[in-house]
Amino acid sequence: MQQINLSPKQQEIVGLNEGAFLILASAGSGKTRVLTERIKRLSESPNGKILAITFTNKAAAEIRERLGTSDRIKKNVFVGTFHSFCQSILELRFKLLGYSKMPHIFEDDADRIELIKQAIKSVPYFDSIYNDLEPKKKNQYTYNALQFISTVKREVLTAEELAEGSENNEYEYLYETYQDILKSNNAIDFDDIIRLVYELFTNNESVANLYRKSYSYICIDECQDLNKLQYYLLKSLCGNTFKSIMMVGDPNQAIYGFNGSAASFMEEDFVSDFAANKITLDENYRCSKSVIEASNVLMNLEVEVVNFVIPGVFEIYEASSENDEAQFVVGTIKKLLKATTHKDIEGDITFDKISILGRNKYVFTQVEEELRAESIPFYYKSGNASIKFSSASMKAFDLFFRVKINPLDKLHQKRLEDMLKVGDINSSEELKSSKLPIASDIKCLLDNASIDNFHIKINELKSIFNNSDLEDDEKKLTLDELNDLENHLVQYKKQNLKPSLDGFKSALALGLTNNSTNKETGICLSTVHTMKGQESEIVFLIGMDDGTFPDFRAVNKGGEELQQEKNNTYVAFTRAKRFLYVSYPKKRLMPWGDHKAKTISRFLKPLV
Ligand code: ATP
Ligand code: MG
Repeated sequence: MQQINLSPKQQEIVGLNEGAFLILASAGSGKTRVLTERIKRLSESPNGKILAITFTNKAAAEIRERLGTSDRIKKNVFVGTFHSFCQSILELRFKLLGYSKMPHIFEDDADRIELIKQAIKSVPYFDSIYNDLEPKKKNQYTYNALQFISTVKREVLTAEELAEGSENNEYEYLYETYQDILKSNNAIDFDDIIRLVYELFTNNESVANLYRKSYSYICIDECQDLNKLQYYLLKSLCGNTFKSIMMVGDPNQAIYGFNGSAASFMEEDFVSDFAANKITLDENYRCSKSVIEASNVLMNLEVEVVNFVIPGVFEIYEASSENDEAQFVVGTIKKLLKATTHKDIEGDITFDKISILGRNKYVFTQVEEELRAESIPFYYKSGNASIKFSSASMKAFDLFFRVKINPLDKLHQKRLEDMLKVGDINSSEELKSSKLPIASDIKCLLDNASIDNFHIKINELKSIFNNSDLEDDEKKLTLDELNDLENHLVQYKKQNLKPSLDGFKSALALGLTNNSTNKETGICLSTVHTMKGQESEIVFLIGMDDGTFPDFRAVNKGGEELQQEKNNTYVAFTRAKRFLYVSYPKKRLMPWGDHKAKTISRFLKPLV
């Protein structure tokens, strides 16, 4: 982070000590910057411990970098996401929650779907309803049930309370079964990580007091996206007495309604529960004049232009097709790269200054193809995503690893047996004649693995893969993924004073070691959600046709959901520091092979 001069108002916030503060300010006004500076200031004087919760692992890593790694900082400051904070508490206190071993995270959607199917199967009533459904309806049914379970957790309700008066009331009975199956696998899902810590604080006053005393300063970024469970957890962490809590956010960037968040509830509840002082910042330090003016029109805002000396670019391109859109994006990138410099952009124009954003991943297909054709390097931003493997051998490795560290995990054991087409993964004979004969070597290695010798095991695994008769492309993919894993391990060991295999696995599930890989080279492709809080000199926002952005489901629902799509467009716009190119195709290829005529996103109409 370069040295900058904070404005007097920003400095005032950095200098705040005790009390409750709500900083509401628009994108690029320096909220995260100010929060980071304040954490740094507080950490330099022994005022008590600091807890800083950010939205992404990347934002947390940036704050950590700014704080340095002295022992005092490591001891007195916790910087992480809600999930990583709660996971660290669970690792110490799981016994108080009725687990005899640390429960493992089932982070995958596929795992949750599998669990809910098991739950359905185990109750004859549900089993017969489910069996009578057409395949498409079956998916909807499991989706709804999982949605119900998540909502119970995120809204801090009982299944009974949520079911009351709702048409989904039958899912109430699946909740307990789902939880029981999780428990029998010694596992938890993502929502449980936070729910269990909230439960712990609620039911165990003395443990809650321990943490209350522990953290004197609580700092929260992107507070517009807190859900009820997260807010209740914070309230509980503050107890009746608190020293200092500061939240920063922007209601116009609220985009996590599907996660149970509501910016208005944040503004009202936090102010009334904590008698918080509201402070606003109203200058944008990130974006060029063109980007701010476009964002102001989009949202009907009046954000002041600070960078008026930097005109920047705002352009809307109407493409005849998705292909034409991709050619526009890649053609413009090539022109920019050829120019190498521009008066509005500091330094040379390089790949790392360019991002391509979209509402959903599917909009990138053509652009990806075009980038490849032109040999332009790119990567997909991973955000908080868990580490996943795509090669068969590494998939098997991942499953063996899970089963080794959590022998109660029958779900992944079964998946592994299905994958290898064996009856029992513990029979080495069966493994040798399985679909993946090296599986027996992988298992053998892992049987004797500990965190201390894990690095050596990874290297042994490399030679197993190298000497295997895997086909060339598959071998390369497998080794690349293994190298990735090695990088994650190195990063994990750097981050942790007391490393363990269990800890490493949860770090992978929470994406805590994502910064370790040097995969992030070239042009960044990202969904808008993942790009939240971050910035890029040049942004291409693609797929801005109505029904894609806003998403057709939100269009159908209208109201708050449609508003969130608009907020998300605003988030996308304001990621651009200098140049913003927005595009949409006039027709889109549908999965069934027809082309559908498309029109410009309703949000862009005031801008054309
Ligand atoms: P978002 O809502 O998108 O998360 P934010 O309000 O958190 O935005 P920051 O990311 O903190 O904004 O700041 C935006 C950019 O402006 C950063 O590059 C930051 O370093 C820079 N910045 C912040 N304050 C100043 C300042 N006073 N002078 C110059 N640059 C600044
Ligand atoms: Mg920010």
